[in-house]
Amino acid sequence: MLQFETLPALTGGTLLQAPAQAAAVHQLLLDSRRLGQPVGAVFFALQGPRHDGHRYLSELYSRGVRLFVVAEEAAISGGCAAFPEAGFLLVDDTLAALQALAAHHRQQFRLPVIGITGSNGKTIVKEWLAQLLSADELICKSPLSFNSQVGVPLSVWELNSTHTLGIFEAGISEPTEMARLARIIQPTLGVFTNLGTAHDAGFSSPRQKVEEKMHLFQDVDTLFYCADHSLVHEVARQQLSTRRTVLYAWTRQRFLFDAQQADVLISIHDASADRTVVHVERARPRPQEHTFTLPFADDPSVENALHCLVVLLWRQVAPAEIQRRLDRLQPVAMRLEMKQALNDCYVLDDTYNNDLAGLTLALDALARQPRRGRRALILSDVLESGLPAAELYARVAAQLTARGVERLVGIGPEISQNAAAFTGLEGAFFPHTEAFLAAFQPDNYHHETILVKGARRYGFERIVTAFQEKIHGTVLEVNLDALVHNLNFYRRRLQPGVKLMVMVKAFAYGSGSYEVANLLQFHRVDYLAVAYADEGVDLRQHGISLPLMVMNPAPDAFQKLRQYHLEPEIYSFELLKAYLRAAEEGPMPAIHLKLDTGMRRLGFGEEDIPELCRYLSENAFRLRVASALTHLAGADEEQHNDFSRQQLAAFHRMTPQVEEALGYPIIKHALNSAGIVRFPDEHIDMVRLGIGLYGVEATGQQQDALRPVSALRTTISQIKRLPAGQTVGYSRRGQAVDFERRIATIAIGYADGYDRRFGNGAGEVLVRGQRAPLVGNVCMDMCMVDVTNIPEAQAGDAATIFGAGLSLSELAGRIGTIPYELLTNVSERVKRVFVAE
Ligand SMILES: *Cc1c(COP(=O)(O)O)cnc(C)c1O
Repeated sequence: MLQFETLPALTGGTLLQAPAQAAAVHQLLLDSRRLGQPVGAVFFALQGPRHDGHRYLSELYSRGVRLFVVAEEAAISGGCAAFPEAGFLLVDDTLAALQALAAHHRQQFRLPVIGITGSNGKTIVKEWLAQLLSADELICKSPLSFNSQVGVPLSVWELNSTHTLGIFEAGISEPTEMARLARIIQPTLGVFTNLGTAHDAGFSSPRQKVEEKMHLFQDVDTLFYCADHSLVHEVARQQLSTRRTVLYAWTRQRFLFDAQQADVLISIHDASADRTVVHVERARPRPQEHTFTLPFADDPSVENALHCLVVLLWRQVAPAEIQRRLDRLQPVAMRLEMKQALNDCYVLDDTYNNDLAGLTLALDALARQPRRGRRALILSDVLESGLPAAELYARVAAQLTARGVERLVGIGPEISQNAAAFTGLEGAFFPHTEAFLAAFQPDNYHHETILVKGARRYGFERIVTAFQEKIHGTVLEVNLDALVHNLNFYRRRLQPGVKLMVMVKAFAYGSGSYEVANLLQFHRVDYLAVAYADEGVDLRQHGISLPLMVMNPAPDAFQKLRQYHLEPEIYSFELLKAYLRAAEEGPMPAIHLKLDTGMRRLGFGEEDIPELCRYLSENAFRLRVASALTHLAGADEEQHNDFSRQQLAAFHRMTPQVEEALGYPIIKHALNSAGIVRFPDEHIDMVRLGIGLYGVEATGQQQDALRPVSALRTTISQIKRLPAGQTVGYSRRGQAVDFERRIATIAIGYADGYDRRFGNGAGEVLVRGQRAPLVGNVCMDMCMVDVTNIPEAQAGDAATIFGAGLSLSELAGRIGTIPYELLTNVSERVKRVFVAE
């Protein structure tokens, strides 16, 4: 591990003060809100136009951070002496220091690394390559679209010795930026996706832009690209062909292939609404022809998939296997998201950027949607085209006409000035987003498909929200920031060196396993655990490379364990014997031994230990044990403390015998979320965090320190007057009332996972911040609540089933169950929406 004391040499900085204790660097911290375990965190005080990290030094010191990299000595308030235990490194440029550290980290690993750049498609190609190669490799990849000067160092810092492949994307907007990213990523393989007009303003010409991007690939062994982007082809041949780099190009043009300017010729055989059949001819390593079906039909997806296909061909993956993997390829939801909106409209959400190429892609996507009423476009000024405004908007107008757009709302000074270019359309123009929102009349939009396309600085997400405000539907909103907050609450409780396993079984307690696991991978937890092998396979196919424990590994899933590096929990002699038989055919992943100390569910009892040890030592050469674990039966309740202590004592009697039989140390772990809080002296080598991550503090002692992660929301479909003497719903269970009441029907029922036991007054929901009790039985898709005391309630209002103001613990108590059941019951038909603040 890198020591703080070595940073001056790496960064060219000066050590203003050495830390009181020698310290290894574990985590790079740029944002005080993301602090987890403070030991080993190095804070880089980054400076930007609206932001100065130096302001957070005192706060972070008081929260336990001891390592700081600063650019201004004068900004250390009170001087170093005010931070007696801290180490301070003074550098010219904190961002450059961060990058130097990441570059150094990268050099510690000799593994293939794919670097990806280009104007569009970087993130999708990265995600897809990770999906397609996950069966063969343990992959470290950039999370989301971390491709900037800050995002790349953070991504590369996640590399560790278990990875067998790195995939990182690099994005730039100005000359000289790419050389810095190349030093950090140090790719051995490259993919140049394509060339668009994005960010043209920063470069003097398209050629300069390509030359600059090509800097990423100065030292790669092989570069993959499409030779049909002629500028990319030209620059690659000029800049790289004199080096040892092999150019592996694909093309759709036979003459390039025949002239040996490209290695792979791809022709589209057949395309339907949702798939494309391609014919592939390749010249190297030997002439071959294949046919593949891509599960996409739109041009950008096909191009992105072809880049990936070419990489797989080059890696000599068998064609039948390539097809199997292509069939499983999942679209990456990133920019263009189709959302249901008010008045039977749909909104195509692309509020990320707005350059000419991006607009073309988005209009293509709009044109591909099944026709639902009219096509409308809400468009900001188009940026960075490099064209004179009049010409630019004339081109935009021509595109709109060609794609059947009938209605345009232009927002921004430039597009407003050029309103005359759009004479053929129904048009309205606003100088800025606020003006549009102030004038927004939902009733002006009915049954339309609306593309919302704007550069990020216009904040068009507010427009999308305005369109969605009143839509009907039930969603489980998962707050990823709250999840990270809770993760850090538990991390802070761990002694340095104690590992963290997070339970993402049961669809991550109902919250969405892939998204949660991806976030946990980014925040570098040590292990994940799932209940079944298939859950593990699913995570691997989504690019999760963390070590993964499977708690219920059936013997018929052993091959999957091997293929996807999934480590089983072994809890019985039958299972152990079956696993040993599998291991005779080839190496199997390490195992986790479940020891039963009082739960009486699964596991080897204390009486089994001698026989277990005999098996382990006899089979030591073909079996690796990663850990031993036990599970407490009553960690959440104080009344069971004595029993818990007895369980832990039994565990401490059993594990040394196992370790002795093995002849090497293993990870020992016993505590779940409640145990972490209740038994701080028994964290041992690792803890297993579950419900606490999702916002429920199971001992009840520290509930206020956690943030609720999930909110289940629906809407009021209709409100009725219920005259005295009438009843509500099935079986006429809602008692006849003695005075008139207002009853709201809300769009959630037991098929969504809303428990029937909440019926007839047992449950409450929140409407306009106030509680409304259930009336009558819960039906399959809806139920009724009494809003007599909330006169302002109206159809279309949101109703919160649980979330801030109505806790899972309270609701569980009302019907005699536990928060775990409420969370995991939310059915899959309920849409998960992930939010970050
Ligand atoms: C689910 C589970 C946990 C996590 O329990 P929480 O109470 O949710 O923290 C820990 N260990 C095992 C073996 C589990 O099955």
